[in-house]
Amino acid sequence: MTSMAAPTRQDALDLDARDPLAGFHDRFEPLPDGVVAYLDGNSLGRPLREIPTAWADFARDQWAGRLIRGWSEGWMELPEQVGDELAAAALGAAPGTTVIADSTTVNFYKALRAAVNIARAADPARNRVVLDRDNFPTNRYIAESLARDFDLELVWLHPEPASGVTVAEVEAVTDERTAVVTLSHIAYQSGYLADAAAITAAAHRAGALVVWDLCHSVGSTEIELDAWDVDFAVGCTYKFLGAGPGAPALLYANARHHGHLDQPIWGWLGRRDAFEMEQGYVPAQGISAMRSGTPPIPAILGVRAGAAVVAEAGIGAIRAKAEGLTEFVLSLADEWLVPLGFTVTSPRETARRGGHVSVDRDDARELCLRLVEAGVLADFRTPNTIRIGLSPLSTSFTQVWDALAVMRDVAGAAPVAPAADVPADALASTG
Ligand SMILES: *Cc1c(COP(=O)(O)O)cnc(C)c1O
Repeated sequence: MTSMAAPTRQDALDLDARDPLAGFHDRFEPLPDGVVAYLDGNSLGRPLREIPTAWADFARDQWAGRLIRGWSEGWMELPEQVGDELAAAALGAAPGTTVIADSTTVNFYKALRAAVNIARAADPARNRVVLDRDNFPTNRYIAESLARDFDLELVWLHPEPASGVTVAEVEAVTDERTAVVTLSHIAYQSGYLADAAAITAAAHRAGALVVWDLCHSVGSTEIELDAWDVDFAVGCTYKFLGAGPGAPALLYANARHHGHLDQPIWGWLGRRDAFEMEQGYVPAQGISAMRSGTPPIPAILGVRAGAAVVAEAGIGAIRAKAEGLTEFVLSLADEWLVPLGFTVTSPRETARRGGHVSVDRDDARELCLRLVEAGVLADFRTPNTIRIGLSPLSTSFTQVWDALAVMRDVAGAAPVAPAADVPADALASTG
């Protein structure tokens, strides 16, 4: 693609023919009839074909076959075991540092409070949490709840809309009053990929801890939690990992903090010797201290399948394909969409761009509904953003070309009239 003209469909076919990950497309359940392309895999990943089988096998052999005995025959250890599998495949984290549990929202609450508790134990004067206005709502609200209950001061960054939080911005507001810096590795709106290593180092220089949200980077981008010396991290498994709607989240705590993991939801399964049913709470050893209640076993098997396919493909190859797909979308968007009044709001610099591309136009909400009708499932984000999610293992260049051609045609037709009667949740999606 050296010319300025839009890539042709033949270009897309050629890119697919050279794609080392093309073989993975058939590992997923086929797209339903009428769907041209699925551009929402960053919100809800498509199911691997093996997941329905794994769930049916589990129900028959394990649940029906073993009944209550299953809990002492391996189910109970699954959160840590699959945590290790995911840590090795996608997190750059040592065994024993990651658990699969609860939702990202709940894990974020637990991790943020545990981090604040560690920082305040070292210095009670540290009462600030640094975060950004463009972070995902759940992260902002949880931080606000903590600030209210524990007398914390929130320090809000206002990153450039088309980009995200920089090292310099963090450095400017992080000092001896800061307990924790918490940000998203990849911004859900713009797709900005933050320099997690450098920001973590900057927070540490000021004596603060970090909590990273990996929802949009786990399974799409290289992550090195141990090497970056991250304190805590949380993230979704139903987006790029494709573990299924509402699948439990990951929670990572650096081994350096084990033994001081003071999280707030003192459930029986986070207690040492849970089955002794003793009076009083004593945290379990290691990452298990971050557990609370009974784990959702079938859903964790979905996480296992997602981690396994990432391990098989290799996260480096997945990242390379994400770069190729986002670049391809940008070249089509510049030729086809920008002349129609769209603005590209994702970073132009490849190294700073995650696995999706966002384009804005005032009628994005209506347009997105038209696209769904035309078989292109993309994502609307208020107030005027269409997110083009590009899950590398399940998305081909040809699908992207076809989808963008539909988008060009739909958006190029007469301006879409505002649909006043569109309910706010007509385009609901997670993340
Ligand atoms: C998707 C997403 C979440 C979702 O949290 P849930 O508890 O699974 O609903 C949280 N944070 C970020 C940054 C996300 O992108």
